[in-house]
Amino acid sequence: MGCSKAASNAVFPGQYLPQAQWCKRQFQTSIQTGPLDGPVRLASAVRQKVLGEIAVVKWNLEVDVVVIGSGATGLPAAITAREAGSSVVLVEAQPRMGGHAIVSGGNVPLGAGTAAQKKYGIEDSSDLLFQDLTDWSVVQPNGAPDYRFNDREIVRAFADNNVSTYDWLIEHGVTFADKAPDERGGISVGNSVPREMHAVPLDWPIAHLGKPVPPEQRRTFSIGAGLMYPLIEAAKKCGVEILLEHKMTSIIRENPKSGRVTGIEVEHRGAKLSIRARKAVIIGTGGSIGNVNFRRMFDPRLTEEYCGLAGMPWSDQDASGEIAAMAINAALWGLANQTAEFGYNITKAGRIGCQYGYQHLHWQPESTVFDKARATGLPVKDWQDCILVNMIGQRFYDETGPAFTANNYDKVKPYIPNSYLNAKNVAYNPNNFLNAAMAGIGDGHNGGGPIWAIFDSEAAAREQWTPAPPFVDFEQGFFFKADTLAELAAKIKMKHQRVPMPPAALEATVARYNSFVDAGEDKDFGKASPKFKIAKAPFYAAWSTPVLHDTMAGLRINARCEVIDMQGEVIPGLYCGGESAGGFSEHGLARCVVQGLIAGRNAVANAADEHAASRVA
Ligand SMILES: Cc1cc2nc3c(=O)[nH]c(=O)nc-3n(C[C@H](O)[C@H](O)[C@H](O)COP(=O)(O)OP(=O)(O)OC[C@H]3O[C@@H](n4cnc5c(N)ncnc54)[C@H](O)[C@@H]3O)c2cc1C
Repeated sequence: MGCSKAASNAVFPGQYLPQAQWCKRQFQTSIQTGPLDGPVRLASAVRQKVLGEIAVVKWNLEVDVVVIGSGATGLPAAITAREAGSSVVLVEAQPRMGGHAIVSGGNVPLGAGTAAQKKYGIEDSSDLLFQDLTDWSVVQPNGAPDYRFNDREIVRAFADNNVSTYDWLIEHGVTFADKAPDERGGISVGNSVPREMHAVPLDWPIAHLGKPVPPEQRRTFSIGAGLMYPLIEAAKKCGVEILLEHKMTSIIRENPKSGRVTGIEVEHRGAKLSIRARKAVIIGTGGSIGNVNFRRMFDPRLTEEYCGLAGMPWSDQDASGEIAAMAINAALWGLANQTAEFGYNITKAGRIGCQYGYQHLHWQPESTVFDKARATGLPVKDWQDCILVNMIGQRFYDETGPAFTANNYDKVKPYIPNSYLNAKNVAYNPNNFLNAAMAGIGDGHNGGGPIWAIFDSEAAAREQWTPAPPFVDFEQGFFFKADTLAELAAKIKMKHQRVPMPPAALEATVARYNSFVDAGEDKDFGKASPKFKIAKAPFYAAWSTPVLHDTMAGLRINARCEVIDMQGEVIPGLYCGGESAGGFSEHGLARCVVQGLIAGRNAVANAADEHAASRVA
C-alpha cells in the first residue's frame, strides 16, 4: 500500500489556490519529497516528437497517474491507483467534488453474489449477471431492448468484478441500508434476482438540501452522498493529490494520433498548465449528454431547449473527456445504446416551473449551488391539474401518461433467459410522451421546442403550490403568470421560445379542453375522464420540457478499461470508465465504480506488465 508515503496536501472544497500559489505549492512539494519517489514533482521541460518535428511540452507537474473527474469513476480509480503505490493527481473542473454521483439517488446495483445478497438468501453469480446483462430477448415496456447492444467483453469484466467492488466499497467506509437488495431505482440491472443496494448518508450534508437529512433517515435514506463522501475521505487519507477548478482541456500523446499518452493540459482560472502522467491518464469525466452538438450526433432532435440536465447545477456532462480522447484518435462505441429509446436518457419533467425539473432532485435555497438552479420547482401530484402545450399552444398527448418504467427483477413474468418469448411476457406501455413532446412543430427546427404546463389558480390550490420564488423561476423565463390566457401566451418570452405562442391558439386549446371536461372525454388524446377546467384567473405557464439524464454511449474501451483507437488498437496509457465509456447500457453508479476500479488497477499494473489480466479482482 502506498498510503504511508503520501503527502496530504490535497486541495479540498473551500481551499482554492490562486495560480501563483499553485506553482509555488507544486515546487515546494517537489523539494519536500525529492525528485523521484514523491507523489508529485516539478519536472523540467520534456521534449516530444510530433510528426518528425520536435515540440516541447513544459510540464508543470509530474506524477504516475492522472485521473480526470472526481465522480463515481474517478475517485475509485484514484484511490486504487494510489493504494497500489503510485503517485496520483486527480483534477476536477468544479470547485467541489463528487460529480453527478454525489447528487444521485445512491441506488447501487451490485450483484453476482455479494455479501449483502448472501445475507438475505439471494442466489446470484457472475455468470447469471453476465447472462442477464447480455440477454438480447429482454425488452422494456416500450419495446426497446435493454441489453442487446452491450459489448460482451465489457459486461464480462463488469460481472466478474461486482463482488470485489462491493467488498472494496465496504472497506472504504460506504454504508448501505441494512435491508435485502431490491429492484428500487434500478435500470437495466437484470431480471433474474434483486441487486439494488442503497447507500445511506449518515451525517454527511446533502448537496441539494444544503444540510444532512433528519437523524431518523440517516441509515435508511438512499443518496449519493452516502457513496461519495466516504470515498472523498479515503482519497484524502491515502494521499491522492486533488486539484479543484482544474479542467482538463486536452490529452497529450507522443504523436497526435499514435504513441503513448504522456499527460494532460488543464485550465486553472485562466492559466494553462501541463501535467505529465508517467504511467497513465484515466478519464472519468461523466459523459456527454450536456453538450448540445455532441448529443445531436446521436439524436438531432436534442436541440438547446433540452437544457434541464439532471445534476447540472452541480456538474456538467460536457463531453470534454470524449472530445479530448477523440482528438488523439480514440473511437466511440455502442452508439445504439444512446439512440434506442430506453432508460432515463430523456425523461418527462417531474417538477415544473424551473430549468432543472428532474423528478428526484429538488434544489433547495440552502444548497450551495442554488444560485445556479434558481428554483426548486413545483412537484406535480396529479397531471389532471395541468395541460401540456407545445411552443405554439397546442396539446399533443395525454398528460397523465407515465415518464419511463424500467424493466428489472420480477417485471418479465415468466422470465426465460434468452428466449424470444420474453417479449410476449412484457406488459407493454408504449409511452410515447417523449416522442410527442419532441415532435417538430412545423417551423423547420429539429427539436420540439419548449413544453409548457398550463394551469389556473384552482389547480394551484388543489396541488398546494405557491407559484412564486423560490419555487418557480420568473427571472430566467421558466415561469409566467397573467390574468387572461391571451395575456399569458403573449408573455411567454424566453431564449428557447423560438416563435411566439399565438394567444388565440392557447385560448382555443383551453376552450376545447374545457369542453372535454364537460363531456367527460378527451376526444383528442384519450386522457381518462378529464377532471378540471382551466378557468379561474390568474393563469400560469410553467416550463415542463423533457429533462436529459444520463449518457449511454462513449469511448470504446476493452475489458481492462483501456481506450481503443479508430484502428481497433489500444491507446497505450489511456483508460476510461463510467458514463464517458461506451458499450454498456446499465444506468449509473455500479458500472462507474466497477470500471473506475478496473481502470485504476490496470493503469498501475499495465505500466509494469502490458499483459495484465482482464480479471483484476
Ligand atoms: C439526480 C441524479 C440521480 C441519480 N441517481 C442514480 C441512482 O440512484 N443510481 C445510479 O446507479 N445512478 C444514478 N445516477 C447516475 C449516476 O450518478 C451517474 O451515472 C454517475 O455519477 C456517473 O459517474 P461518472 O464518474 O461517469 O461521472 P460523474 O459522477 O458525474 O463525475 C464526473 C466528474 O468529472 C468532472 N469533469 C468533467 N469534465 C471534466 C474535465 N474536463 N476536467 C476535469 N473534471 C471534469 C465533473 O465535474 C464531475 O465531477 C443519478 C444521476 C443524477 C444526476
